[in-house]
Amino acid sequence: MFGTLSRSLFVQSRTVPCIMAETREEETASAEASGFSDLSDSELVEFLDLEDAKESTASVSKPGPSSELPGKDDKPVSVQNWKNGLDVLSPMERFHLKYLYVTDLCTQNWCELQMVYGKELPGFLTPEKAAVLDTGASIHLAKELELHDLVTVPITTKEDAWAIKFLNILSMIPTLQSEGRIREFPVFGEVEGIFLVGVIDELHYTSKGELELAELKTRRRPMLPLPAQKKKDHFQVSLYKYIFDAMVQGKVTPAGLVHHTKLCLDKPLGPSVLRHARQGGFSVKSLSDLIELVFLSLTLSDLPAIDTLRLEYIHQETATVLGTEIVAFEEKEVKSKVQHYVAYWMGHREPQGVDVEDAWKCRTCDYVDICEWRKDRGALSSSLEPNAKKSK
Ligand code: SF4
Repeated sequence: MFGTLSRSLFVQSRTVPCIMAETREEETASAEASGFSDLSDSELVEFLDLEDAKESTASVSKPGPSSELPGKDDKPVSVQNWKNGLDVLSPMERFHLKYLYVTDLCTQNWCELQMVYGKELPGFLTPEKAAVLDTGASIHLAKELELHDLVTVPITTKEDAWAIKFLNILSMIPTLQSEGRIREFPVFGEVEGIFLVGVIDELHYTSKGELELAELKTRRRPMLPLPAQKKKDHFQVSLYKYIFDAMVQGKVTPAGLVHHTKLCLDKPLGPSVLRHARQGGFSVKSLSDLIELVFLSLTLSDLPAIDTLRLEYIHQETATVLGTEIVAFEEKEVKSKVQHYVAYWMGHREPQGVDVEDAWKCRTCDYVDICEWRKDRGALSSSLEPNAKKSK
């Protein structure tokens, strides 16, 4: 991903007018609005996961147990391999992943097998879905530009990419301290043995002075989502809170970060990254300096934990607010779901498709024609009939 020149986005506060003037023309309206590999709108999740998966597929094509993975026109072999006991690598190893995105787990919440197919068979992104992605990304970008400018920073290494995350965090902490509003706040931390990375859509304070996480969901049709979609959204914002709280409470450590991400602390940062760090007022020479600064700022800034979780659904075309929801944070439930999902990633169980009562999800699934779960469960095929029983 970073072998060739890539770009990442640095959030530029409007409280630094000289830099804003210099960088205005560099602003970009790409789908990478967050500056990272994922966006926080769960409706964009599956599409972005497919994009991420292209990289994974390139990796799994290397010689090894997974090298027999066929192309998109053929049947994937992973599920069958599991049944035959042929998979000796866990999915984390097979996909060459060091950590997961929050969005990976949210897609699992929708249909785990669909997420797996997305990783193995990227390229199923239809023009229609790409259009939805573009519109959703544009709305998010517009929201983000209401608060700050975006500066495109050329990067060449994963260390540069993480340095941009850290610079964004450092630039947003003072705003949070002064009870301001921020958007696209990067979060990372270990949950149930796995390292998760994500981006919080928005953080602000309510009139009661509570720190509120607000997640914007754009809807193609002017109606609220079904309960299953809401469930996935509830899980997503709960995970963000879990990770953010751990970060500000000092439960995420530099050692844990480096252990999971395998970042090379001694690798020199790119000149553009260093220049933007200087312009932001951060005197750092290496990634190690930056990591130290970020963790000190996170723990010494006295930032509160997130008090409330709010979801807002808006219609893409008209920008009409369709509804808002306050989500109750259930820590036990979040942890137990993560444990279940992580068991798949660690290779402790096979991936699962949807239950019979959720078979309607298959209607819009790109993998319905090749889905082994569906084929193996005749009940799923006839599950649209009334009174269908649960298949597992
Ligand atoms: Fe999941 Fe259904 Fe798609 Fe199979 S067809 S991956 S069970 S949503």
